[in-house]
Amino acid sequence: MNRQQLIRLVLEDYQHLDHNPRKKLHAIARDFGLEIYIEKLVGSCGGLLWKILNRWCIVLNSQVPTHEQTFAFAHELAHFVLHQSMADQLSYFPEQTESLERQANQLALKILLPKRALLPLCNPGSSIHQIASNLTLPSWVVRERLTHLRHPLRNSPLQESSPHLVKQSK
Ligand SMILES: [Zn+2]
Repeated sequence: MNRQQLIRLVLEDYQHLDHNPRKKLHAIARDFGLEIYIEKLVGSCGGLLWKILNRWCIVLNSQVPTHEQTFAFAHELAHFVLHQSMADQLSYFPEQTESLERQANQLALKILLPKRALLPLCNPGSSIHQIASNLTLPSWVVRERLTHLRHPLRNSPLQESSPHLVKQSK
């Protein structure tokens, strides 16, 4: 399967699992033959994509909160889809901004929050924090996706700091 086919597959074939992002990620990983490990990783690294003896695996950092782990999971899965031919090891750090990281983040957001699953949750009275909490995702992930979709809710205040906001405050 080529890259475009893989992208289409992850964005279209798993829509029925929309409301449980983590479950969807496990289903995709299983179908791709990826092994998932949750281990203590040093520093703020959320996860790693690794190829060991011809087997791809994703290692998630047990030291970061579950909702951040879920984003790291999607991010590493996105690297697998987009960049597996480029490197045997790609690591995730929230502060990385180079183009491979941006591409992985964009695809991760689309996998986690397909438009047709997210938009019905965005009522005038709903908050980003509430939507994120229902989906067990970080609030900043929901806000980023709403920003891409230019949804009015993207401007509502956040109750949780995002890596980007943290970075700007330093
Ligand atoms: Zn990455």
